[in-house]
Amino acid sequence: MQIQYYFDKPVSSKAEDLIDELQAAMCRNCQIYSSPVTTLKHENLVVTSVYAAHERAFEEENFSAWGKEILAKLRRLGCVLTFSLISNLEEPEKTHNDLKYHVLFARRYDSSLSDQHGASIALLNLPLSDQCKDQVSAWVAKYNACDDLWLSLNELELSAYYQLASVKSELSILGRTICKELEEASNTPTYYYLFKYWGLKNLETKRLCPGCGCSWCISDNAQADFFQFEFKCDRCRLVSSWSLDFTDKKKARIGSWQK
Ligand SMILES: [Zn+2]
Repeated sequence: MQIQYYFDKPVSSKAEDLIDELQAAMCRNCQIYSSPVTTLKHENLVVTSVYAAHERAFEEENFSAWGKEILAKLRRLGCVLTFSLISNLEEPEKTHNDLKYHVLFARRYDSSLSDQHGASIALLNLPLSDQCKDQVSAWVAKYNACDDLWLSLNELELSAYYQLASVKSELSILGRTICKELEEASNTPTYYYLFKYWGLKNLETKRLCPGCGCSWCISDNAQADFFQFEFKCDRCRLVSSWSLDFTDKKKARIGSWQK
């Protein structure tokens, strides 16, 4: 989507600050994903491109209290906002008749909530408080930061991986708390996706649920689509996939069930 901010006079630095603040508020409210990109700034006009949650993401009712406050300030500066769809590269939102559960899985340019087939679910469609949506976007930012650190800094590799893979990490605890709130709001069981990179080659099917220590392998097909999870525990509301690297026994312990 593209957002155009038209002003009746040249764009001031105060107006630019408010635009930045509005876009931060929309991001925190799960109306848009990732940081917007400013594509044009010229005299009375600023244009930004964003990944929007859906076509109605910018209707007044979908703004948080914080967002509405900034909108009012911008309008007092003579700003008129228009929103236009420039492309929709994603598949249209699918509806499935066999909806059984949702999955929380951090994605950079799409909703972090999906159905069990991987179709994204816009959080704006659920009866959630501003605070809850803010918590989700903060969790997604933390998850992506850990993912980046894990891949880019050798000295922080294991600490960042622990956050992603251990059910006891601060990141996972926050994510599972969010799952409970989303489950309540959607009235649909909501599972937390637990990442597992290192594993033990011949013991994958014997992996135990890291939440309760029970058997949780439901498929030995490691070639399955991502959303056909090989591990699922209904009691702990956890799902996980086959490990990807079997070369380090010590690292394979991270995220495993510990008595
Ligand atoms: Zn369990």
